[in-house]
Amino acid sequence: MIAKGERTPSGEHGDHTGRESAPGAAGPLLVLWDIDGTLIDNGGVSKEAYALTFTRLTGRPPEHPIVPAGRTDPAVLRLVLRQHGIDATPDVMAQAVEELNRVFGSLMSRLAERGHVQMGAPAAIAALAGRGDVVQSVLTGNTRHNAQVKVSVFGLAGALDYEVGAYGSDTEVRADLVPVARRKATAKYGIPFPPAPTVLIGDTPRDIRAGRSSGVFAVGVATGAYGVDALTASGANAVLPDLRDTSAVVGAVLGARRDRPGRPTDETG
Ligand SMILES: [Mg+2]
Repeated sequence: MIAKGERTPSGEHGDHTGRESAPGAAGPLLVLWDIDGTLIDNGGVSKEAYALTFTRLTGRPPEHPIVPAGRTDPAVLRLVLRQHGIDATPDVMAQAVEELNRVFGSLMSRLAERGHVQMGAPAAIAALAGRGDVVQSVLTGNTRHNAQVKVSVFGLAGALDYEVGAYGSDTEVRADLVPVARRKATAKYGIPFPPAPTVLIGDTPRDIRAGRSSGVFAVGVATGAYGVDALTASGANAVLPDLRDTSAVVGAVLGARRDRPGRPTDETG
């Protein structure tokens, strides 16, 4: 089932329209899970990790609050550095990301203590995995290293295919992550994974807008900092209050096979 590493999808530049391809109902469904706020609650350990990284880099604690809000790890670090008047050159950024990975590796037991898996997440992943026509991975602002730490600490790794995931270490801009995951899935499985019916599941308007602008089917889950109304307003194709109702999750995801993502919302929000 694995392998032709050489294929590259054609028409990649059509991604944001979602119009390049047929619904692809016969192919496997690519389902991409956001991690923080969606699959797990990190219990504030991520913010702590950013702060500790800043302190280790600069010798002083950050003076401004850290607001991830769905940004990628490198984007959060860049913002924090800039807020403190530090020029985020490529060298500084590389050093910051490396330090963040190191910090995260050292906070695993704290993450296990303070964080938790979101209710229903393991059952939802298992139910989708059991279908046999779904490839599941993550689409996250975390670096790949930190994503794997978080997912494995909470025992969710089994059914997720890390190799086709999209990470903050692939690109700093969240909206660029969907094409990254689709390209990786196509390269690994040797079949096209068009924007429709690819599914993105996330807890912030930033997730939803990134999904919609990439032409995928976006499912909002109101388990993070944003409620059902905010996720609906950001253009989600389906919104769930949480992941506890497994059949509702599966139904929402499979909505991508029935419904096209539809008109892109206006991107001003
Ligand atoms: Mg999130």
